[in-house]
Amino acid sequence: MSRLKKAVGYVIRTQDYGETSKILKVLTREAGVISLIAKGARRPTSPFGAALEPLTLSEFVYYDRAGLKTLSQASLLRAHPELQRDYDRLTAALRCARFVHRLLEEDHTEERAFELFGELLEALSTEEDVRLYELAFPWKLLARLGVAPQLERCAVCGRELPAAAASGGRGPAFSQDKGGLLCGGCRSPSAPGSAGGGEGAREIPLSPGAARGLAMLLKLPFPKLKRLKLSPEEIALGERLLREFVAHHLRPVADAGGGGKATARGPRRRA
Ligand SMILES: [Zn+2]
Repeated sequence: MSRLKKAVGYVIRTQDYGETSKILKVLTREAGVISLIAKGARRPTSPFGAALEPLTLSEFVYYDRAGLKTLSQASLLRAHPELQRDYDRLTAALRCARFVHRLLEEDHTEERAFELFGELLEALSTEEDVRLYELAFPWKLLARLGVAPQLERCAVCGRELPAAAASGGRGPAFSQDKGGLLCGGCRSPSAPGSAGGGEGAREIPLSPGAARGLAMLLKLPFPKLKRLKLSPEEIALGERLLREFVAHHLRPVADAGGGGKATARGPRRRA
């Protein structure tokens, strides 16, 4: 039993299917990430036109059912030509789209993710510091889903970090196990710094300035993010913490380097 539904969404992934069709993953406002099969989309006479290109915002009319849905009509709403013209902006946006695909369950409404992705694409279309926005997006998405690490307060004692950062004669550190930043006083006494002493006590030390920068990255909305000046080293640290946080806390999903059929199978977050 299937019925026609309408949704507005961003195309976050496409793959060819059969001789003439495409399968799309779309981050919609109404239904979260959905899978659509667009039959005949690769024919020269395809009625879908540019509405199925990656990162476009389009309105989709489809036959709804669990799992793969059949696309009936698509109309382009916004194409983001600024992204298509600039390799760095485009690849940053596509990596963020892959992160969405990796993180979100299908058929699970997540309006906040839709809004945030739209804000990201607008920022990547106009702002200069592409790497900052690419770093901010996954952190902000985790925060909106309620699974981000604790960055504003010490994850153990709860004191605000800029003030408490240097207590105990040591600076703050990031702990995957404790789920966020630790003040100097709460760091594990045995942790010998970034080399880590065993999996359980792994802490990554960082400067109070870098700790504050990460907290601001989460806190400032995209339109105000340009105020934040992070050094290339701080950005690299933020990227490393994110990678490790995701690997540690979220169930890894086989990323389809070979274009394998990605299917939603069980929850992809809150491991
Ligand atoms: Zn503490």
